[in-house]
Formats: sequence, C-alpha cells, structure tokens
Amino acid sequence: MDARDPLAHFRDHFCVLKTKHGEDCIYFCGHSLGLQPKTASSYLEQVLRDWTGLAVEAHFHAQSPWISYHRLLTQQTAALVGAEPAEVVVMNSLTLNLHLMMVSFYRPTTQRHKILVERGAFPSDQYAVKSQIHFHGFDPATSLMELTPREGESCMRDEDIEALIDREGDSIALILLGGVNYATGQVFDMAGITKAGQGKGCAVGFDLAHAVGNIPLRLHDWAPDFAVWCNYKYLNGGPGCVGGCFVHERHTSALDLPRFAGWWGHDEKIRFQMGPDFHPTPGAEGWQVSNQPILALAPLRASLEIFAEAGLERLRAKSVSLTGYMEFLLHQQPSTKFSIITPPDAARRGAQLSIRLRRDGRTLCDRLAAEGVIGDWREPDTFRVAAVPLYNSHQDVYRFVQGFLAAL
Ligand SMILES: *Cc1c(COP(=O)(O)O)cnc(C)c1O
Repeated sequence: MDARDPLAHFRDHFCVLKTKHGEDCIYFCGHSLGLQPKTASSYLEQVLRDWTGLAVEAHFHAQSPWISYHRLLTQQTAALVGAEPAEVVVMNSLTLNLHLMMVSFYRPTTQRHKILVERGAFPSDQYAVKSQIHFHGFDPATSLMELTPREGESCMRDEDIEALIDREGDSIALILLGGVNYATGQVFDMAGITKAGQGKGCAVGFDLAHAVGNIPLRLHDWAPDFAVWCNYKYLNGGPGCVGGCFVHERHTSALDLPRFAGWWGHDEKIRFQMGPDFHPTPGAEGWQVSNQPILALAPLRASLEIFAEAGLERLRAKSVSLTGYMEFLLHQQPSTKFSIITPPDAARRGAQLSIRLRRDGRTLCDRLAAEGVIGDWREPDTFRVAAVPLYNSHQDVYRFVQGFLAAL
C-alpha cells in the first residue's frame, strides 16, 4: 500500500519527530498538534525580514502586504470547508471565535433559551457555552441540554439526535455540535442536523476543530449559520495558530446582527478615516476585531499550500485506508483489555480511532511514548490515535499496532 501511495512523498514536507536514538517516531497525534511543515520557517522569516527592512511600511509595501495578509489563506480555507470565500476568515483563536459567533447567533428568549451540545463536549466549548448562558441571565441547569448516547453505547445515533431536535426544538435557541467529536472520533451528520434544527427555528453552529483538514466539508450547501475551528490540529499551522470562522452567506450582508466589533471588522474602504461609527465590512471578515497576528498566520500558508497540492479527496481516501487498516489489525487480536469506541463505518469517522482501555491505560500510553509512539491519553480511559494521511504510512500503522499489543 505504501509503495503504491501517490501521497507518500508528502511526508518529506514535514519535520517528522525523532526518538532520542534518532529514529522516526510514530506520530499519531496530528489530531492535537500537526507536525511542522518544512517550509513554515521561510514564511515566518519573510515576515521578520519585512519587519526589519520596512517596519510600518510593510503593512502596504511588503511582498505580501500585512494589511491583506490573512486573505492569502482565504481561498484555500474556503476550499477545505466547502464555503464561498466571502463566508470564511482566519482570525483570533477557536474559543474566542465561538464567543463572537454566539454573540451574533445565540439570542435567547424566555421561550427559546437552550443550547444543545453533545455530552462530554470539549471543555473549552462547555465553559464558553455556560458563560454565554450566564451572560444572558439564564442558568445552565435549565438552559444547557446535552445529547447523550443510549445506555451502553459511546456514540450518538443520528435518528436519536433528530428525534430530540424534533421533540425539544421549540425551546432550543442554538444547536452547537462538533463536526467530529473529539473524544470518540464520531462524525456528525451535519447536513441532517442543520436541516432538522432550522426546521424548528434553531440557530445551528459547528465546532470543526477535529473535522477541518480531516474529512470533506460542504458548509455552504449544508448551510449552518456559523462554524469555527482551529488551524493547529490536522491543519499543521503551529501552536496557538490563528483560528477559522465561517458565517453563511445569508448572514454576511445582514449588517444589523449584534456583534462585538473592532476596527478590523470595519469597512475596509473607510477604515483609516478613523470615524466613530462602526460599519461592518460584508462577509465573515466583518467579524474581525483586531489587526491580524501576521507572525501566527505565516506558518499556516506553508501548510495550506501542501493541502492544496495533495487535495482533500486524495487525503481522505488514504485516511480511510489507514484507519481501516488500523482497525483491521486491532481486530486480528481480540482482547477484553480494550475496545474501539469510534464508529466502525468509515463514513461516520475521520482519521481518529479512540481505544478504550479497561485498566492501566495511562501507563501503557506513557510506555509507548517512551518508545517513540505518540498518541493522546484522555482521562479516564481513552487512548486517541490518528494516522494522518499527509505524513503517516501503513507501515506506521502496522508498527503502532505491534507496539500497542506488545505493551498491552
Ligand atoms: C482543540 C479544541 C479546542 C481548543 O480551543 P482553543 O481556543 O484553540 O484553545 C476547543 N474546542 C474543541 C472542540 C477542540 O477540539
């Protein structure tokens, strides 16, 4: 499979982590922090050189002027999430973008005040959502609603989600789910959920932290109100990299939506007239607040270029193969010591497999890490591993499973 892999050479575009003996690690942690593209440093150095040589003039006169630097990422970002360019912007960070989106799209009333999230949503999302509920004078005890799997199951069933929305939708102001659940790796039916939610008059948003760069997305067609994501997981933009944000076209000219404004969201043509009144620029860019962190954007250019060259369709095909192979190998050695909680259907998962360990999982994970096998341990019992098609191989998968079973 590796010999026939048309994407195999992309591994050489990345700084593959080494063990202390100088061998390549098996890095299965691209769901948390993607590896560094080798070209990232040249983009960073260019910004530093422009700062050295041009200082403030670099805003307009650098080779890639800082004033519009974020737009260098717009086309490729739009392609990755299946959006129109005007519907996306890279800015801030994920949780902050989530707050900004809730300011505009979580508009609770006494009849309709709930936010629907998945049980065990990523903690930052839970804190953000609860604080928004408090901010509007409501109580999470009555305004936060959680989707819960059936007794004895780990993942949510599509029909249960839709039934819940149908039953409770009239009281739900906002449905906010992960595109891919970070703990189980389950892919949600974003098209179906959006349709069901909007049929009930709910706003719908997705957190795509674990979906973007992992599975194909068609946000424009699915038409949720908004989506947010980070660019440092599958997208390899570097630690604390600038996040992404999608606002559907039907809202991007709705200049009367409430929002927390700043000068970078102001109409660009009159921004430097420095007037007192805010006139949002059309499109998702109208939600920008501050001038862009150019140094944090630079490495993302390197990564998105690689994605554009590799193509998400081909990456997804390889990803399905890698993950399927990992599952196949693990099932060759059935054991009561572990189970896979990620859905077995390739269409309902991305690159990640979540392996639940009955006991001593943390020790096992630490031992593998000492051998250069890097996954992610989540308390209380889950080992999350992702074979990333840009830089992992079938051989990595094979060696991982051998090491895992031996350590088990
Ligand atoms: C990674 C991740 C975050 C991290 O939030 P930051 O604001 O980027 O620190 C938040 N939510 C989800 C679902 C994540 O997977």
